[in-house]
Amino acid sequence: LRHLSDAFKSFFHKTKGFPKFKKKGRHDSFTLDGAIKIDTRKVRVPVIGWIKTYEYLPTGYQPKSVTISKQAHKWFISWKIEVETSTTPKTQEFVGVDLGISHLATLSTGEIFDGAKSYQKYESKLARMQYLNRHKQFGSSNYRKSQIKIARLHQKIANIRKDTLHKITTYISKNHAVIGIEDLNVSGMLANGKLAKAIADMGFYEFRRQLEYKTQLYGSKLVIVDRFYPSSKTCSSCGEQKSSLPLSQRVFKCEHCGWECDRDVNAAINLCQQAVRLTVLACGLDSADTSRVFAEGVPEG
Ligand SMILES: [Zn+2]
Repeated sequence: LRHLSDAFKSFFHKTKGFPKFKKKGRHDSFTLDGAIKIDTRKVRVPVIGWIKTYEYLPTGYQPKSVTISKQAHKWFISWKIEVETSTTPKTQEFVGVDLGISHLATLSTGEIFDGAKSYQKYESKLARMQYLNRHKQFGSSNYRKSQIKIARLHQKIANIRKDTLHKITTYISKNHAVIGIEDLNVSGMLANGKLAKAIADMGFYEFRRQLEYKTQLYGSKLVIVDRFYPSSKTCSSCGEQKSSLPLSQRVFKCEHCGWECDRDVNAAINLCQQAVRLTVLACGLDSADTSRVFAEGVPEG
């Protein structure tokens, strides 16, 4: 009933459509309130009793409610815990992060992180599985078995992608104090049929979501740079803006000052500088202080 009330609320606020019934076998999950006991390797749920778990569980937290869900024919239990934030020592004050298709993330320091591209890697295997499933009788035992196999592969692809993203976002938010990223229009980019697969395989949206909570966790700050800021077309050395820059051109070359560097690194440096400017303004300083803040870092207080 609580979920139904939430669903109707977002329907009346016109953020979502009319609520639909849940369907058995798709996103199976339920939430339990109250009397749940958690031990190191088992949980006690009402009616069923003690259930052993595969992984060790964090004890010492008494959750108010837990959610049990089924993903790719496996059962998962999840609940919220409260953690203290811990500020880690930062090696770098400011960093800009440019997200792209050829490299997932390029930092203004020149570091490059590649995406897992797990879907691309398993695409043919997945297609083969779906091909072999095509003539099985719907609802039959063999049909069900191959459906589970396909679901498992889908999950494996998602897990590999998530693992890579977690490693990159943890590294960035642990070691940098202020992080500037571009406000990407992901749903708009996915509408481009040619690039949709490659973009979806990168997980840009998830990247930003992880950065948002991890910067809070490790005491750093995330600065979202406006979507219309021309980070890739501007020269990071003199600020001259190009009228156009085709995607095929991998090296940024400025006609005005002669500055030359990798296209993605140039964009990342611009995002970094924009993050500095926005931080300076947010601190109530004058824009003349920008270069000082960039060299010395954000003043105390
Ligand atoms: Zn220039």
